[in-house]
Amino acid sequence: MADSGASFKRRQQPASFGRLHTFHGGLQLPGHCEVTAALPVSSAGIPPILVLPLQQHIGAPAECRVRPGDHVCKGQTIATAPGPISVPVHASSSGTVIAVEKRPVPHPSGLQAECIVIETDGRDSRQQADHAAIDYRHTEPAGLCELIQQAGIVGLGGAGFPTRVKLCNRSQRIELLLINAVECEPYISCDNRLLQERAAEVVEGVRILRHTVQPDVCIIAIEDHMPAAEQALRAALDAVNEPDISVTRVPDIYPSGGERQLIKILTGREVPSQGYPADIGIICQNVGTAAAVYDAVVRRQPLLSRIVTVTGDGVAQPQNMDVLLGTPVSHLIATAGGYTEDVERLLIGGPMMGYTAHTDSVPVIKTSNCVLAVTREEMPAPPPAQPCIRCAKCTDVCPAELLPQQLYWYARSNNYDAAQDYELFDCIECGCCAYVCPSHIPLVQYYRHAKAEIWTQEIQKKVSDTARSRHEAKQQRLARIKQERAERMSRKKQALSGDSGNKDAKQAAIQAALDRVKHKQKLAGTVPKNIDNLTVEQQRLIDAADRRRQQQHPGNKTTD
Ligand code: SF4
Ligand code: SF4
Repeated sequence: MADSGASFKRRQQPASFGRLHTFHGGLQLPGHCEVTAALPVSSAGIPPILVLPLQQHIGAPAECRVRPGDHVCKGQTIATAPGPISVPVHASSSGTVIAVEKRPVPHPSGLQAECIVIETDGRDSRQQADHAAIDYRHTEPAGLCELIQQAGIVGLGGAGFPTRVKLCNRSQRIELLLINAVECEPYISCDNRLLQERAAEVVEGVRILRHTVQPDVCIIAIEDHMPAAEQALRAALDAVNEPDISVTRVPDIYPSGGERQLIKILTGREVPSQGYPADIGIICQNVGTAAAVYDAVVRRQPLLSRIVTVTGDGVAQPQNMDVLLGTPVSHLIATAGGYTEDVERLLIGGPMMGYTAHTDSVPVIKTSNCVLAVTREEMPAPPPAQPCIRCAKCTDVCPAELLPQQLYWYARSNNYDAAQDYELFDCIECGCCAYVCPSHIPLVQYYRHAKAEIWTQEIQKKVSDTARSRHEAKQQRLARIKQERAERMSRKKQALSGDSGNKDAKQAAIQAALDRVKHKQKLAGTVPKNIDNLTVEQQRLIDAADRRRQQQHPGNKTTD
């Protein structure tokens, strides 16, 4: 299983990507993940209740397709994607839908969101129609993209961007497919364990992604402190004789696993501000996403579970767990032996990028990689914030090369335009600035608040723009109808006035026709005899005609 020197050399990064580069700032942090990285992944089992938010990804929330009382099978689609930037949601186990309602969800805002709540039946029964595995080598990339979309796969590294969009919505040729196995945040070891236990599936998932993207080069980047995972990965590549996927170790500096930072390390290139890696010919996917792609294509199973690191001194038995999506955090804590007596705080995510959860009823979602229960000793509450002393320590460590103190100043004064001018949206919320700030200013909280405010304002603007354009369209439609009606009336009037001459002509024609009939009748002798002004001769002729007719048709009566 150990990697041979030859295969290691063969799998060094290709010459086109040369040496490793560095990114600005960053921190060297204690790992705190030795215990969980050494333990096998356990199963969290089936919880009594699953809470599945309609939005577990970036983009539009999925649209619910079930109602309370519906029975659902494992893997059944219970909410569909309403547009291209969205993904469906699947039932992660079988049971009965008991509610579709707002519940607390894992989000820094602490707000509630619409969720489908399933009471599980413990049978974990799947839908009847199981699909056969697909040979990706004989499948068009577009077909694989569709499978990935139907499986509800999003970036499992934490971003939650729909994977199909990343893989398929691009115009540029892809030079590098970069697989991110750099788990740089302290305490978190879910990708580490995934590679140790499912390396072969990850490699197969990477091959499927490579077939989908058709890049020139494919690299798996792994952090220095993950030797067991690296060994498993190399062994899996050797087992399938795959020399065209190289493995590259990157230094153990936080946040080297950030997409932009990792691209900088491996290529020296900068992703443009507010742009995407695809803009510079690179697609980056997490190893967890690669495993999910394997499940979708080979097992024909949608994204139903993920590995979550449940850790911290505040939980009795820290470990990695295979968790059904929708499982409440309280169930994970109970499975891990419960809270310790001195637990102080619960975080969703790691200590740097995570956020405090005010309740452990929040569920695990597609992007949840860590549940961290900490004690006061382990993570003391920060002292009260002091004024900024302009020391610039935050600037020195910012991996996005921003000016955190300026961002703080503008975010605090609600000057969001200026904050955006200072590239607020390039902030990856890594927390390096807040970590080093001697004034203990919760900088990231200010940035998150500012971003949320800007998004809210944009949504409100879009809503009011839509309402205004609808109103304008309605006004235009009414004006058009009015004009058309006026034109119709005018045409009618014209027709009527034009008709008066016609009317006379018509009446004259009718009169002429009547006269002609009268004349014929006179000739035929059927005109009443009391008709005015008959001459004696005419009367005689009529009488003679009458008599003749009587002789020919004796039953017929004359007009007398
Ligand atoms: S580290 Fe803190 S005190 Fe120093 S400049 Fe940045 S925000 Fe101000
Ligand atoms: S949180 Fe944002 S501003 Fe602070 S160091 Fe990270 S990227 Fe820079």
